[in-house]
Formats: sequence, structure tokens, C-alpha cells
Amino acid sequence: MDIVDMAKRIVAGERRALARAITLVESSRADHRAQSRTLLETLRNHAPERQALHIGLSGTPGVGKSSFIESFGLMLTGQALKVAVLAVDPSSARSGGSILGDKTRMEHLSRDRNAFIRPSPSQTELGGVARRTREAVALCEAAGFDVILIETVGVGQSETTVAQMSDLFILLMAPAGGDELQGVKRGIMEIADMILVNKADGALKDVATRTCADYAGALRLMRKRVYDPENFPKACTVSAWEGHGLEAAWDDMKALADWRKTEGHWATRRAEQARYWFEEEVRQSLLAQLQTNNAVASRMNTLGQAVSDGQTDASAAAAEILQMLKIQP
Ligand code: GDP
Repeated sequence: MDIVDMAKRIVAGERRALARAITLVESSRADHRAQSRTLLETLRNHAPERQALHIGLSGTPGVGKSSFIESFGLMLTGQALKVAVLAVDPSSARSGGSILGDKTRMEHLSRDRNAFIRPSPSQTELGGVARRTREAVALCEAAGFDVILIETVGVGQSETTVAQMSDLFILLMAPAGGDELQGVKRGIMEIADMILVNKADGALKDVATRTCADYAGALRLMRKRVYDPENFPKACTVSAWEGHGLEAAWDDMKALADWRKTEGHWATRRAEQARYWFEEEVRQSLLAQLQTNNAVASRMNTLGQAVSDGQTDASAAAAEILQMLKIQP
């Protein structure tokens, strides 16, 4: 595979080259990993000035993520913007089955030539999915997409992972009673830039409006973040079905992104994210050694048994493994 040629085609916006490149970065084969690294480095030199807006979007199954992305994405492509949709699916990381990968989702958007939709890579652990998605984001950015939507289901660590590759993080919610509002994890509220209460239509409209007011109140109680202008983070109602609120939400996202760019927070966040992913990749690779290095894995097993039998001290056993990995215990 000619990596320089592939890079040129990606920069020229050839979708097939982009799709093949994403397949390449999703592969865990050592030669493919090496090619991926070369490709990403080459693209940094080819298209360093290209910058897309990375929007992370999270919500529990059923809140209307695919419906929202379909309507929102079509609104953006209607404004001649190029939109890529990627996913981090923790369920596919665990079981190989996917919540987000269903082919029938976003039927119209997937046929739009200004849109590019890629389901989550199926991998054995979230760390692997995260790295591959992050690299796919970089590829889409080099390919000249204006907006990259990174979708995830609100389970466990996946929101934090997506927030770490997003410029803006959006929480999609369903209309609900006050009790359910209490159930939203504080940590998730803290990373949200906007809360969009979907399904604000028909019989659900009033509940959605009340839910939105509740979230707005909850957001006001949170500690002020330096990277927010007045009135952010904010809560709004939308209807993916009727299209209500989508333009307003997009205007808010642009306003927030512009303000952060002007104030320098955008660049700071990207810089911090780059550092985070560097450190995370070192951590993940070290962890992977415990499983992929056969000698280490087998010794871990033996020592695990010895420790549980009371024959060896836990710290001494750990020191032996670390020495095998040439790490100072
Ligand atoms: P996801 O699991 O988060 O991707 O949610 P889906 O997009 O599959 O939507 C879940 C259900 O909510 C489906 O039955 C949708 O038709 C419905 N839904 C999605 N958006 C809206 C909306 O704006 N209004 C209403 N009333 N229902 C919606």
C-alpha cells in the first residue's frame, strides 16, 4: 500500500481512500499499525491547517441519537457543510454486538454525498476503540470535513473518552420527570457544554419544556468553568422529528466554538487532549503487554496463584513482573 498516495487521496476528499484508511487504523496488525502511524504523520504535513469542529454527542439508548444526527446532519449538509459521523460504542467493545452500528440508522444522511458515516470499530476493549476512533477523527479532519460528530451511548467511561476527542460535548436527553433528572451522573453534567432535550413535540412538548428548565437550573448550580462564556453550559429543547430547535442549537454551538477560539480555550483544549492521548496510549500499551507478552502473562498466572496461596507477598510478586517488563518497581 502506497501511504503517500493514500494521504494525497484523502486530502483530495476521496471517500474510498478515507474508508480504506479508517479500515487501516482499525487494524491491530503490527504492520498496519506502523502504516497507520506513517499515514497520520504524513497527513499532519499535508493538511496541517485543516480543522473540523469535533462534536461529541452522548445519550442513553432511545433518547433519539440517530434521529437527531439524521436531522441535524441533513441540516448541516443543507448548508453545504461536510459532516462525518463516527461512534464509540462500549457495547461493541465488550461483547462484539453493537448498539450504534445498525445499518438502517440515519438512512437519508447515509445517502447524502456530503456526509460520511462510519460505525464503531468492534474491539475487545474500550481503550482500543477509543484510539481507533481518535485516529479516524484525524483522518476525517484531514479529508476536509467541517463537522465531525462522535456519538456514544451513555454508559460507563465512554462519555469521558468521547469528551477527550471533542471540542464541544453535547448531552442528548429525553423528556422526563424530576426523579429521573436526579439520576444523571454529576460527572457527565460537568463535562456537558449543552444539554439538548429531544422529543419536544406533540404530547411530549410540555414535559420536554419542563425537563429543559430543570436541567437549566441544575447547570446554573454547577461551578463556573473558565472556558465558558456567559449563559453556557445551556439547556435547550429540540425535536429531531420536527426539526424544531436544531438551527438554534447549531448557532449556539458555533457561538461557543468561536468564543473559545477567540479566548484561546480551543487551542488549549486541543493541546491538552493531544497530551492526554499520548499518555493514554503509553498506558494502554503497557497494560496490553500484560496480556500479549506470553512469558509475562504466564508468570502473572503462576505468581497470582502463589500470592493467593499465601506463598509469596503481593508486592514482591508485582516487583518480579515489573522487572520482566524492565520497569523499575
Ligand atoms: P437512539 O437509540 O438514541 O439512537 O434513538 P433513536 O433515534 O433510535 O430513537 C428512539 C425512539 O425515539 C424512536 O422510536 C424514535 O422514532 C423516537 N424519536 C427520536 N427522535 C424523536 C423526536 O424528536 N420526537 C419524538 N416524539 N420521538 C423521537
